[in-house]
Amino acid sequence: MDADAEDIPTDTGASRPPLTSPWKGIDAPGYHGLMTPGQRLRQIANILNGSTLLGLLLAACARTSVSSGPRGLLIASRYRWRLPFAAAFTVGNVILFRAGPDTARADPALLRHEERHSTQYAWCLGLPFLPLYFIAAGWSLWRTGNPGSANFFERHAGLEAGGYPLPGTPGTSPWTHRRIGAATPKRYEA
Ligand SMILES: [Zn+2]
Repeated sequence: MDADAEDIPTDTGASRPPLTSPWKGIDAPGYHGLMTPGQRLRQIANILNGSTLLGLLLAACARTSVSSGPRGLLIASRYRWRLPFAAAFTVGNVILFRAGPDTARADPALLRHEERHSTQYAWCLGLPFLPLYFIAAGWSLWRTGNPGSANFFERHAGLEAGGYPLPGTPGTSPWTHRRIGAATPKRYEA
């Protein structure tokens, strides 16, 4: 018997945090292969249609740090390029954030919003999403004075989480009825 064995304190487990705590969030459904069939389908569709590849290319060119996020998404943080004028935007399964990784993950509502855009890429068979989105944004800009409030894609993704005013609220008058310099939100999430 090793004499030193008696010096090892009895482990009651009281002083340790629960084993699951360091992995909180990572064990949650959606991480590392625990995707729903729909999330898996979206992931595969956006790989095959090239949109996730474009997102990764953009993330690499903009020197962001990419990490795996929930539900098959990839989080590219510290995006610094000037365009688009948004705190976050989505290309395929890649969500690009201006914020650091911790801040990006700390806003589940925004992440859900961007995730819906990711699903929209899959529905649009990938890159056709981009021209369709710009047409919808142009229509919204003309109708409401901002690119989101009457934009089909933003309405589906959730206007509030995207930082867009709800129709009928200040900042959403049709262009033809707007005063110059009317109040508009400072930034959108795209
Ligand atoms: Zn959006």
